[in-house]
Parts: sequence; structure tokens; C-alpha cells
Amino acid sequence: MTSGPRYPELAGTVAAVSGGASGIGEASVRALAEQGATVWMLDIDSAAVESTRASLLALGLDVNGIVCDVSDEASVVAAITRILAESGRLDTVHCNAAVTWTEPVSSTTLAGWKRVIDINLTGAFLLAKEAYLAMRTAGNGGSIIFTGSPHALRTIPESSAYSASKGGVAALMKALAIEAAPFGIRVNSVLPGAVDTPLLRSDAALSDDPEAMIRRWGASRPVGRIGKPDEIASVVAFLASEGASYMSGSEIMVDGGLYAYLGDGM
Ligand code: NAD
Repeated sequence: MTSGPRYPELAGTVAAVSGGASGIGEASVRALAEQGATVWMLDIDSAAVESTRASLLALGLDVNGIVCDVSDEASVVAAITRILAESGRLDTVHCNAAVTWTEPVSSTTLAGWKRVIDINLTGAFLLAKEAYLAMRTAGNGGSIIFTGSPHALRTIPESSAYSASKGGVAALMKALAIEAAPFGIRVNSVLPGAVDTPLLRSDAALSDDPEAMIRRWGASRPVGRIGKPDEIASVVAFLASEGASYMSGSEIMVDGGLYAYLGDGM
């Protein structure tokens, strides 16, 4: 079991995590399952869903897997319908699935733009909407957590469509937080800095020396290293817990101090 705070109130609750078969999502699935929640892992990659389920089972964590494309409304509706039918409730949803993008605006094709927006923004919208409707109908409150990105606030040219998608997620989170608040449903975002996942490594793989690139990203942060998926998942568990009962509409930066740092600017 991962060390860290215990949230007994999460035992017996039901959670869903998109992009749950890899990286930050997999860590979130594990963290919520370790807190005693029934967890549904939603991911488009069926082989990864099976292998992640098997590796978690080896740790004594029996999580459920659904192959789901968050950019497809019917797929998301079917996933939520199945969760409600089999688990009877839904308390926590982590809208986390996304793909990366590494082209400046000038070389971003319309097809590439649409893919990133469809998965990262429309996918977050579809899952959050269906979860919100289910939570509102049940009347027991709930916690909806988005994975945003510091790239929504400050960015680099190559991150064009990705940054735009995460800017949209930031605005969506705030709009839903206001709409859902009267129903006891809290809505927040976690904004991870560079975290060691397959997505980050695929970005690093575009450089001549990926390992050197990852070391450089780590060294550029005040804490001197990149993050681990568990260090984001622990914040997700906190946002799901009663410890965050007065938090809604918040963005939590988890980036090893990078956003606060002026670098060589002064
Ligand atoms: P990852 O590539 O390890 O995991 C992403 C998962 O999403 C994969 O399992 C993939 O199969 C799944 N996925 C992709 N398209 C999907 C779709 N259409 N429907 C359902 N699932 C789909 O990436 P990660 O680094 O763990 O990223 C998780 C989240 O964290 C993303 O929202 C990403 O933007 C965000 N993020 C990551 C970093 C980082 O440094 N790793 C930094 C900031 C934000």
C-alpha cells in the first residue's frame, strides 16, 4: 500500500478514472482503490486495461475495467450506465485521459487539432457531464476532478493544440464548479508539472537524447527532479476526500515549484 493519508470516508464509495490504464490515471486508480473505493478504470487501450487490471490484482486491488473512448458520447454514456447498473452509485470521477501534441500553430493540421481537442477537451466534457448528471440525480454530492496542465497558463510554441485543450479544461472546470455547487458536487483540477509517464517519455523521445532531456526538465524545477504519478494521485485522493469539503473551482499546481520560479529572469 502507498504510504500517505488515509481517508476512511472513501471506503465503499465508487470512483471512475479515465485514462486509468497508464501513468497518472493508473496511479489515481490505485490510490482510490487503496482508500477502499470501488474503482472503474476507463481507457481506450483494451490491452492496457487488461494488463493494468492484472498488475493491480497482483497487489490485492480488484478494480473494474471498461474500454471507453472519452471522445465518443455513446461510449461514455455506456460506461456511466454500466457503472451505475453494477455499482449502484458514483461518487468520484477523475477526468484524466489526454494525448500530447508537439507542433507549433504553423504546422498544426486541422485533423491534428481536432484529435487533441476531441480527446482532451470534449472527452473531459463528456465524462464530466455524464458523471455530473448521475451525481445530481442521486443527490449524494460528489467530487469531479480534472487533470489540467500548467500549459493552460504558460506554454511553449510546440504545445499549441495541447495548451488550447487544457485552457478549455480550465474554463470548463470553473463553469461546472459553479453549476454543480448547489448540489454538493465539488469540481476541481490538479495541474501536474512534468511527471514520469509514457506521455512525458513520448515527448522526450522527440529529442536526440531523451534521458538527457528528462534530466534537464528535472533540473529546471526548484525541487530538482520530475514528479512521480503517485505524487499526483495523492492529490486526487485528497480532492475526493472530506478533507477538501470546502474546495471547489480550485486548481492545484503540483509541479515541483516550477510555476513559481522566475529562473534566470532576475
Ligand atoms: P499517459 O499517456 O501515460 O496516459 C494517458 C492514458 O489515456 C492512456 O492510458 C491512454 O490510452 C488513455 N487515452 C488516450 N486517449 C483516450 C481516449 N480517447 N479515451 C480514453 N482513454 C484515452 O499520460 P499521463 O502523462 O499519465 O497523462 C494523464 C493526464 O495528465 C493527461 O490529462 C495529461 O494531459 C496530464 N498531464 C501530464 C503531465 C506529465 O508530465 N505526464 C503533465 C501535465 C498534465
